Amino acid sequence: MPFSHLGLSDKVKAAVAAAGYTKPTPIQDQAIPQVLAHRDVLGIAQTGTGKTAAFVLPMLTLLEKGRARARMPRTLILEPTRELAAQVEDSFAKYGVNHRLNVALLIGGVSFDNQDTKLTRGVDVLIATPGRLLDHTERGSLLLTGVELLVIDEADRMLDMGFIPDIERICKLVPFTRQTLFFTATMPPEIQRITDQFLHNPARVEVSRPATTVAAITQNLVKSGREPHQKRETLRGLIRSAEGLKNAIIFCNRKRDVATLYRSLLRHRFSAVALHGDMDQAARTAALDQFRKGDVTLLVASDVAARGLDIPDVSHIFNFDVPHHPDDYVHRIGRTGRAGRTGTAMTIVVPADQKAVVAIEKLIGQPIEWRDGPPCEEPPEPVRMHARTPRQGKPPRPARRDDKPGKPAAAQDAKRRRPQPAPTRERADDAPMHLPAFLLRPIRAKA
Ligand code: AMP
Repeated sequence: MPFSHLGLSDKVKAAVAAAGYTKPTPIQDQAIPQVLAHRDVLGIAQTGTGKTAAFVLPMLTLLEKGRARARMPRTLILEPTRELAAQVEDSFAKYGVNHRLNVALLIGGVSFDNQDTKLTRGVDVLIATPGRLLDHTERGSLLLTGVELLVIDEADRMLDMGFIPDIERICKLVPFTRQTLFFTATMPPEIQRITDQFLHNPARVEVSRPATTVAAITQNLVKSGREPHQKRETLRGLIRSAEGLKNAIIFCNRKRDVATLYRSLLRHRFSAVALHGDMDQAARTAALDQFRKGDVTLLVASDVAARGLDIPDVSHIFNFDVPHHPDDYVHRIGRTGRAGRTGTAMTIVVPADQKAVVAIEKLIGQPIEWRDGPPCEEPPEPVRMHARTPRQGKPPRPARRDDKPGKPAAAQDAKRRRPQPAPTRERADDAPMHLPAFLLRPIRAKA
């Protein structure tokens, strides 16, 4: 029987068979017996390796004994983002179909009252982002002294997001004798320090990056002018000329740029949604659902929002910005070419990105081929400047603010469906600005 040698319970094995898995992935093979033996585990693995099931399956088996008490969760899973937390909740629903466990999600952007009600009923599995969890402990609605097993997932991402002090606080609130499962894709010194401090003689389980990630993906670098409007133009050309584009994720380094690019794409009549940390939870969930179902073609996202998301069958990845960390490049392009499919990843490169590109090529162990940029959409003009100049301060607000944080996604959709006038040069944020000559004269500073 598949998974039979790992020591999982019959209920779990039945759920795994129903999920269609025929054999465990390497991380599952190595980690599951250790978790079932109540050992701490240090798992060095990234998403796409099956690491969620590597902790969810044995947890379900362990949780079959015992029951939950009010406000005292039995197990706690920490995730860096709300989407990842929701994804783990989905895994419990999928693998726990034969169990009757109470699973609660504590994430920001959702009312405290509903979460309080769930906590009062008693929770077997609490999945939380660190900030909201600490809010609840400070309000006294949650006690962590009953936690038997703690999972810290995507620890290196927690580090990037500045959550390490929160993690340290939480580790001190749970009993010293708990079992800890710690997952990270990389081991920077700060993460090493945390593992030394909070793990007890852990079993170290390491799986390499899925080799197929890079092999199955056609990767290209595309030259572009440095100005944001030039990059957007390059991107539009790439999308329009992409062969076999079914759907695509477009990554930006900053959430501010996610919002700007998203609005620009809408103006240019592309079917797009945005995913970034400033959107409220309902809008984020709605955006992801639309993309997953194929209702929209393009998802514009930041690394943090998209990290670890399991979106099957994405045909193209566009890096609007070269990521600062080469690891992020691997994560980003790993969203395509999944499950034996092929994928395409294109990265827009401006002159200042050369160093970052070299670091990426070093990490993936191969050069990435350059491809000629697409032809310009508009003839070059004598003076082109993006709207932002040092004298003008902040860029002017675009006329439409469809992805305003807090605005329900449904409202955005309704607005998007309305017939829209063709974009004019005056309205487009990409329109070049003509400056009078006196503004271009050098300024002489007084002695
Ligand atoms: P994860 O690394 O946890 O994000 O999992 C990546 C994907 O692998 C998810 O879509 C899982 O449903 C899938 N998966 C997990 N374990 C297995 C397995 N043993 N066989 C096939 N697919 C799996």
